[in-house]
Amino acid sequence: MIFYQPLAYWLVAGFYDVLDHLQLPLTEKYKVVRRDPGRGNTVTRRQVIMRVLLQQFIQFVINLLVFILDSESCTRCAEPASFLHRASRFVLGLYVMDTWQYWIHRLVHVNTFLYKHLHSVHHTLMIPYAYGALYNSVLEGLLLDTLGGVVTLYVAGLDCQTATAVFTFGMYKTVIDHCNYRGWVNPLHSLFPNCAQYHDIHHDIRGIKANFSQPFFTHWDWIMGTFLDYNGMHYSVEELDQQQKDKAKLKAEARAATPNGKKRQ
Ligand SMILES: [Zn+2]
Ligand SMILES: [Zn+2]
Repeated sequence: MIFYQPLAYWLVAGFYDVLDHLQLPLTEKYKVVRRDPGRGNTVTRRQVIMRVLLQQFIQFVINLLVFILDSESCTRCAEPASFLHRASRFVLGLYVMDTWQYWIHRLVHVNTFLYKHLHSVHHTLMIPYAYGALYNSVLEGLLLDTLGGVVTLYVAGLDCQTATAVFTFGMYKTVIDHCNYRGWVNPLHSLFPNCAQYHDIHHDIRGIKANFSQPFFTHWDWIMGTFLDYNGMHYSVEELDQQQKDKAKLKAEARAATPNGKKRQ
């Protein structure tokens, strides 16, 4: 199980990074692009990669220790469980993870000391991208992801297989919520109320005190009055499609106006 999460992270994040580089018309129109982009990122991509690798190494060691120390987890895995039992535990696991993440995420925003020394690291990514999903301070990573994983494991009473499914799915969801794609490029985007657009606005200065829920649901934001509706804050798919067509048309006109397609001196 402990290998699945980092593997899932880099596979999924790598896919979206390739799309970002290729900039294919087929995928570019599904990008989540703010009408008002706000401030840019203040951290380099190399810094992000190095920090994420460090986080994953620390989490790997801790997960390994949990499995070594909790010998009963092997017994629990060996016990037969019905599909219905596992499915209900899976859903419960998502809710426990979501609840933990909402309250810790909210805490590190409300408490100025914690924000300054922990969570502000993640918010140097003003415009998120897929492999920046785990770009956090080491302490925040321990609190939010590692400790959150342990709490989810025991509160939801997950066996190894269900725990693997919950954590791998949680990792996948966290990455795609930072990928800034929707539509067919991000198939879960419209299946969950919490999505790339919902989280993108949290990375913007306008939404920094809202949309703390992650990675699946939004009910805690609704209940606690921290919900921010992102509707209208991004260009629609149709608008981006039109922008691309306009650009292509301008390019074609420029080529046609230049004899033999050569640039004018
Ligand atoms: Zn935040
Ligand atoms: Zn984020």
